[in-house]
Amino acid sequence: MINGEKKIENPIRWAMVGGGRGSQIGYIHRSAALRDHNFQLVAGAFDINAERGLDFGVNLHVEPERCYPDYKKMFEEEAKREDGIQAVSIATPNGTHYEICKAALEANLHVVCEKPLCFTTEEAKELEALAKEKNRVVGITYGYSGHQAIEQGRQMIANGDLGEIRIINMQFAHGFHSEAVELDNPSTKWRVDPKFVGPSYVLGDLGTHPLYLSEVMLPNLKIKKLMCTRQSFVKTRAPLEDNAYTIMEYDNGAVGTVWSCAVNAGSMHSQKIRVIGSKASIEWWDEQPNQLRYEVQGKPVQILERGMNYLYSEALADDRIGGGHPEGLFEAWSNLYTRFALAMEAADQGRQLEDIWYPGIEAGVEGVRWVENCVRSADNGAVWVEYQ
Ligand code: NAD
Repeated sequence: MINGEKKIENPIRWAMVGGGRGSQIGYIHRSAALRDHNFQLVAGAFDINAERGLDFGVNLHVEPERCYPDYKKMFEEEAKREDGIQAVSIATPNGTHYEICKAALEANLHVVCEKPLCFTTEEAKELEALAKEKNRVVGITYGYSGHQAIEQGRQMIANGDLGEIRIINMQFAHGFHSEAVELDNPSTKWRVDPKFVGPSYVLGDLGTHPLYLSEVMLPNLKIKKLMCTRQSFVKTRAPLEDNAYTIMEYDNGAVGTVWSCAVNAGSMHSQKIRVIGSKASIEWWDEQPNQLRYEVQGKPVQILERGMNYLYSEALADDRIGGGHPEGLFEAWSNLYTRFALAMEAADQGRQLEDIWYPGIEAGVEGVRWVENCVRSADNGAVWVEYQ
């Protein structure tokens, strides 16, 4: 159970790049990082517009001289201070992640980076090697994986409750971009421009989320080959897709699908993962994150509820309020930020972090690699490709 008592010796001095006023994702980063007192927000380059960033930072109680016009200045100035930052979260548009993450690691900072980590596997591997060399943590905010129902699913699969795993069906298919909303929405505009998002839109923006849930629940499953088809139903988005289907074959004979879509008209989110075994299936839906459907062949459906003591102890570990009370995305993110902090402290003390998983740099690399393989398949006529 989490009750706010300290988990690390001293809060980590922390800054943000991006996530400024009006951004979609900035607030949940701050809320998740600050909730359990593992981090202290002491600096930031919050906005592409320096003046607005300063005004915003001051409103977050950050000292004006530590609200910087850009990340380069921030890393340079903070390195001169005895109480300089130890970690930074990057919540800027995708095209900037690689250079900011690289600069942060070179400045010996721990990093929490938004997905996608970068655009090519080559760049991702370079960042992975740099993080290793510097002994720095890079956490990736696949935030949904912090839900307790995901941990329950992971434990059920590991304990054989589903039998042999055969099929994994995944989707993230919302309807918010059924029309060309990017024409007057700055947060969507860069998402459909290859200059800012690289080779894909929905595969990277949406599909990688349930894909990571499958990596958490089934850590030993390896993709052998895949086939992908992608479309731009709003024509101005071409060559970037607003819909894609991916079929995968895993090395143990299991198969999986990912439906990535932003034009599923009428749908709020529809992020789901269904894992089908030889005896039973589980299904999780992000719009009802406190429940996990458990279907045993020949028996009535069971809905497993978060916070109940029939769950595996690992799934109860992050409970904050007991069953019946809804927890949500903010708690899921807080759970991950707590693990990032534990990992950062362990790295600083030269310890191995045991018994805790979190979306780290390898998850970032895998997301980039999956998108790259999907695009290669789709752009060669939706053909099967060996997973590289
Ligand atoms: P946004 O366009 O709403 O906000 C971007 C923010 O970054 C703005 O405050 C902008 O001023 C600032 N910014 C841009 N360039 C900057 C720079 N060079 N230096 C400093 N600040 C800069 O974007 P968003 O929707 O919040 O997305 C940001 C990132 O978060 C993206 O990579 C996106 O893929 C990711 N995201 C992740 C999730 C998730 O579930 N993990 C959800 C939404 C967005």
